[in-house]
Amino acid sequence: MRVLKFGGSSLASVERFLEVAGIVKQQLSAEPVGLVLSAPQGVTNLLVELTDLAFLGTDYLPLLQQWQQRLETLQSEAKDKLLAADNEALTLVREQQFAQLSAQLQGVALLQYCPDHIKARILGLGEQFSVALMTGLLKKLQIDTIALDSVACVKSQGDYLNAVADIPASEAALGAAIAKQQAQVYVMAGFVSSNSNGELCLLGRNGSDYSAAIVAASIRASVCEIWTDVDGVYSADPRQVKQAQLIDHLSYDEAMELSYFGAKVLHPKTIGPLARYQIPCYIKNTLNPSAPGTCIDANNNGDSLVKGISSLEHLALITVSGPGLKGVVGMASRVFATMAREQVSVSLITQSSSEFSISFCVAQLDLNVAKKALETEFELELQGKLLRPLAIQSDMAIVSLVGDGMRQHRGVAAKFFASLSQARVNIVAIAQDSSERSISAVVEQKSCRNAVKVCHENFFSHVPSIDVFLVGCGVVGSELLAQFERQQQFLQQRNVRLTVYGIANSKALLQDAQGINLASWQQRMDGQKQQFSLEALSQFVQDNHLTNPVLIDCTSAEAVAMQYADFLAAGFHVVTPNKKANTASLDYYRQLRLVAQQHRRRFLYETTVGAGLPVIDFLQGLLNAGDELMAFEGILSGSLSYMFGELEQGVALSEVTAKAKAMGFTEPDPRDDLSGMDVARKLLILARESGLQLDLSDVTVESVLPNDFAPGASVADFMAQLPELNSWFADKVAAAKSEGKVLRYIGEIANGQCKVSVKALDLNHPLAKVKDGENALAIHTRYYQPIPFVLRGYGAGAAVTAAGVFGDVMRTLGWQQEM
Ligand code: ADP
Ligand code: ASP
Ligand code: MG
Repeated sequence: MRVLKFGGSSLASVERFLEVAGIVKQQLSAEPVGLVLSAPQGVTNLLVELTDLAFLGTDYLPLLQQWQQRLETLQSEAKDKLLAADNEALTLVREQQFAQLSAQLQGVALLQYCPDHIKARILGLGEQFSVALMTGLLKKLQIDTIALDSVACVKSQGDYLNAVADIPASEAALGAAIAKQQAQVYVMAGFVSSNSNGELCLLGRNGSDYSAAIVAASIRASVCEIWTDVDGVYSADPRQVKQAQLIDHLSYDEAMELSYFGAKVLHPKTIGPLARYQIPCYIKNTLNPSAPGTCIDANNNGDSLVKGISSLEHLALITVSGPGLKGVVGMASRVFATMAREQVSVSLITQSSSEFSISFCVAQLDLNVAKKALETEFELELQGKLLRPLAIQSDMAIVSLVGDGMRQHRGVAAKFFASLSQARVNIVAIAQDSSERSISAVVEQKSCRNAVKVCHENFFSHVPSIDVFLVGCGVVGSELLAQFERQQQFLQQRNVRLTVYGIANSKALLQDAQGINLASWQQRMDGQKQQFSLEALSQFVQDNHLTNPVLIDCTSAEAVAMQYADFLAAGFHVVTPNKKANTASLDYYRQLRLVAQQHRRRFLYETTVGAGLPVIDFLQGLLNAGDELMAFEGILSGSLSYMFGELEQGVALSEVTAKAKAMGFTEPDPRDDLSGMDVARKLLILARESGLQLDLSDVTVESVLPNDFAPGASVADFMAQLPELNSWFADKVAAAKSEGKVLRYIGEIANGQCKVSVKALDLNHPLAKVKDGENALAIHTRYYQPIPFVLRGYGAGAAVTAAGVFGDVMRTLGWQQEM
């Protein structure tokens, strides 16, 4: 016989029931089919809710009606597909269930008490309805079908709600029932069974998988197929990890570990009976029946190191500790005997090698029972201070790595823990089974998803990600987004995933968990209500389990710059062409570097000096190698480089300024360039980078214009008055020329001092040839002398600046984050 089990997800509607019937029909052969069914999707949950409401004395009647309605709808939609007699039989089942359920709920509500054996009878109703409906549908398809009573045929022992299989008894009961009636298909309810007294016992939530395994083992089926809503077992829960990969084969041991540690696709007890009788198991998809599915059998080929990652949530970690444990025989067994007595299942155990403490995980729901039982059991030891008060850590989860191939393979655990650290997850306890098939870490519940995602990325997808948030979408910001868009394919080919999740301007913040489509971000900005803030971005990063968030600041705003330290501390890399942070107080300058180091994040600002020219990185490299800056001189402003070149040709100051402004070479207010402050900031950044402890006020700044020119004027008035200075400046140009010199706006560092000023240079001075918007930097160091290192190229412009920022963004890759 073949055993096929269909879960609630495969039985959500009549359409689905019919698809299942179709799959069964296709599978008919000489071998009969044992068909194990769950309740229609959601029905068991409704029954749980109903019981809870009745128990709490809350009005459950509306929900009862909902339950009744759900079954009625299923039946009425199936009516045409049923023979009249089967339809009537189904009505009878429904009415009997309703009568039973109403009476039992009434009793529970009256007594405010719901013993487990009553609860079991209530929760098991859904499966029995599925059997009646499916039997009718199959009969109408002229398939020789018989419904077997699982309560009578599937035998178990132990708890009413979480019973354990009794295979010999099931073998006898099922064997007798099947021998009595020949059929092509035997339909059976999953989830329900009975103990030796004939009382109904459930096999635990999600227990129909286990039912199928018990049936398969008891009749020594040729195969057991678990049909669900996914193509098989994945390397992680596909609902949680988009990149999860389908596993084509698992050994029994691997499947057991994965399901035990939370892979919901299989009830944890399912594999035991199948492994014992070596029955192969397939996980198949009802929605995609032709997919091969996952095969689980005895083969243990250790084909890949790690097969899957699973997580078990809603746990509490209990630690029993104290001198009374050390070297005392039997203490550990008393702890676990106490748990067993209370039917509390223990999911992970670790003991310190000093034997001073034992820690273990129990379901959060069992915590109170477990705690009370332990306190009673160890009352004397606790009083006598042989044991410390129990330490309880609530809201915990276990993340586990599973794979036969991990055995005796070095480095897996190290990579696992490094991944957890990269995900900023604190490891509370660790356990590895001695077969080395699984390794588990107890972590806080809130970091569990993140942990699974990062571990999965590191063990399976190997695609490093950059999660971008851009603030400031002016000229440089927009150009950067355009470059990101153009380079998507290039990056993909190089196995890098760069996704822009957030874009903000001064008015709004646009965030999209799917990543923002860079072809249409402008249109979407308008409708956004949210504002840019650290809280909004952090929440987004947390909600979406992003691991490599990068804040790119393309504003020139001081307010944003002053938040970098907080962003770094919150786990963001910061990349910026904004000079404000590096020219703020020295305290803040030092703080940024310290925070970045502490949080293992990068603060990158290559484009603050010389735009795309590799100035900062070069200087840092030299200083790392023990070099020292002796002197510096350079043209650091693209706009002034352009303007001084034009002035040299005899163009009037007002005309050059208007032209540069019109071409977007200057700031909106050209005085920001002409004042020299922009150059002063760049120079200060270079000076600080070289180790000088200076502030902006220490930089001597000679403005291009007289300081008292047009005070308080608007930009328009300033531009209107500027011709007044034309002849004054033309005279300066002429005076220089008469000495065979040209004027340039120069930044200098010498003897620990910074100065920016208009200088007349000999024509053979290297900087005399620099114009047309080019920057040039002559860096004199101990290693580079007597000829300085010279960098020259466009030091402004959207494309080169954005490209420089892009370069910095790429540098955040592979920068592992730790606590
Ligand atoms: P059914 O109703 O068929 O019993 P379940 O909802 O109980 O279905 O189990 C199937 C679900 O298990 C999938 O939809 C998936 O979200 C979840 N799941 C968790 N871990 C895994 C995994 N490693 N591989 C596949 N599915 C998983
Ligand atoms: N219907 C039961 C549950 O929801 C059993 C199952 O579906 O496996 O837990
Ligand atoms: Mg299930």
